[in-house]
Amino acid sequence: MSGLEIRQIPVLNDNYVYLIHDGSSGQTACVDPAVAAPVIDAARAVGWTISHILVTHPHFDHIGGIDEIVAAFGAEVYGSKDDQANIPHCHHGVAQGDSVQVGGFEAKVLDVPGHTAHHIAYHFAGAEAVFVGDTLFSLGCGRLLGGTAKQMWDSLQKLRTLPPATRVYCAHEYTNANADFALSVDPDNADLQDRADAVLRMRQQGLSSVPSTLEEELKCNPFLRCDQPEFKAIVGMSDRDAVDVFAEIRQRKDHF
Ligand SMILES: [Zn+2]
Repeated sequence: MSGLEIRQIPVLNDNYVYLIHDGSSGQTACVDPAVAAPVIDAARAVGWTISHILVTHPHFDHIGGIDEIVAAFGAEVYGSKDDQANIPHCHHGVAQGDSVQVGGFEAKVLDVPGHTAHHIAYHFAGAEAVFVGDTLFSLGCGRLLGGTAKQMWDSLQKLRTLPPATRVYCAHEYTNANADFALSVDPDNADLQDRADAVLRMRQQGLSSVPSTLEEELKCNPFLRCDQPEFKAIVGMSDRDAVDVFAEIRQRKDHF
């Protein structure tokens, strides 16, 4: 079986759109098309026909290109069953446990609410890749713009259980700014210091810091550590439960 080929297309200020291509079948999925033209151009440049559009949530910078991509390729659109009315051409409403087949590769749908009320992620176990939209960022997580802190913490815990080698494909290049905040709450974390240095160098060279692996995030991302006693101690919340710690850290980031 040939691998799943993944291309990252930087668009707008800091968005990433992804093309996922199964060479055996020729099927190609596009994840969260913020815009259409650069995505259509990237697909045509390598002779790929976009057969699927996988949407994580209906913010404009994740769905803005759908109309034109559907018109260009006749792609079928997938999104949360609870967001179908908000996603153009979304005939395939999906939820936790459903799967989406892209050629020989199966994506399992994960409900990961928090950033929005019905945010979903797509986990391609066979390709060790998860497309998380605006739920988990490298060294950060999405703002709470429709869901609760409890929902987001539960969603992060769900993502945390995926195999550590899983590559985390998020929808924004926010890593540098996230590193600054992460170091402000967890300054003595050597893994985080190393990752922050590496990200700074990558960005200075114009390289993407995404994807990271879940293993890196588990060591470095403060939002994934809210239930760890040593992290609670660092942030002065030893006697609080994980949701409270998460809510506090998320608020500090909002005002950073
Ligand atoms: Zn969003």
